[in-house]
Amino acid sequence: MFALLLAPWILGAVPRSGNARPNYVSLGEWARANVFSVHWLERDKTLELQRRSARLTFNVDSRTDARRAQINGVQVFLAFPILYQNGHAYISQIDLSETLGPVLSPPTNPRGFNIDTICLDAGHGGNDPGYQVGSNDEKKYTLLLAQEVRAQLKAAGFNVVMTRNTDVKIQLEDRTAIARKHGADLFVCLHFNAVEQGRNEVKGTEIFCLTPAGATSTNARGEGDTRWVTGNRNDEKNMLLAYLMQKSYEKNLAIEDRGVKRARFQVLREATMPAILIEGGFMSHPAEGRKIYDSAYRKQMAKAIVEGIQAYKKAVKG
Ligand SMILES: [Zn+2]
Repeated sequence: MFALLLAPWILGAVPRSGNARPNYVSLGEWARANVFSVHWLERDKTLELQRRSARLTFNVDSRTDARRAQINGVQVFLAFPILYQNGHAYISQIDLSETLGPVLSPPTNPRGFNIDTICLDAGHGGNDPGYQVGSNDEKKYTLLLAQEVRAQLKAAGFNVVMTRNTDVKIQLEDRTAIARKHGADLFVCLHFNAVEQGRNEVKGTEIFCLTPAGATSTNARGEGDTRWVTGNRNDEKNMLLAYLMQKSYEKNLAIEDRGVKRARFQVLREATMPAILIEGGFMSHPAEGRKIYDSAYRKQMAKAIVEGIQAYKKAVKG
């Protein structure tokens, strides 16, 4: 349990941003305590930490986004940027415990507790079409994907609960309530992305999990409230599931990795079981859009989702 080895130094001189006041610790000291070797991939820009079964890279260049990190090749956004001062890198304590910790030292369930029932939440529906690109509504493809994932999960022996199985609108609070009522062990929300016209080169997949209490979301826009919410009881498992899902996407689909990100979406805040929200690609990208509308590609994406769930089930087995 590497977390016990952390020295919780509070660096008074470290600049702080906004209302969030994380404690930072020396990345080098942490690396040594946890038996990582440290070297530069690119001096003053990219730092690599390596040990037998794990490889971490950190972007320390504050002129670019110093929240960008990679865990075993999977892009993960830290809750707080790495600080790099006088040749020394510092990482927030929250990221050690909530971002790196769950992946390097996965939380386990009590013996005998199995991941059996998966709640699939097809985004949007009814008079809420989601993104619309040409004649294509996001709500149609999230449901088609959910139905394909359900078929493959059932074939793999899971029970499946759907928040919707037709083109109807379901309130956000009802989606998590359905998962809870059916005793779902995981809550997986399915969405597709789009950007406004003129930026249609943007593509790739993003997996969101709930922002830890006290931290800022990856794409926060005026987010004021950073208090603890229900979903935070599963912070470690949320992160582990998001990481393993992104990893499975990379393995199964030739898709750009836009990273594991943090958000305070209502469905993630209110979920009582580990939960993620998958943005499975950009409908607004001409080639990626065509793939999303193609059932053979959605089958492959469903396979990635099932394997991500299976990897999680294995990782948390007590
Ligand atoms: Zn959506």
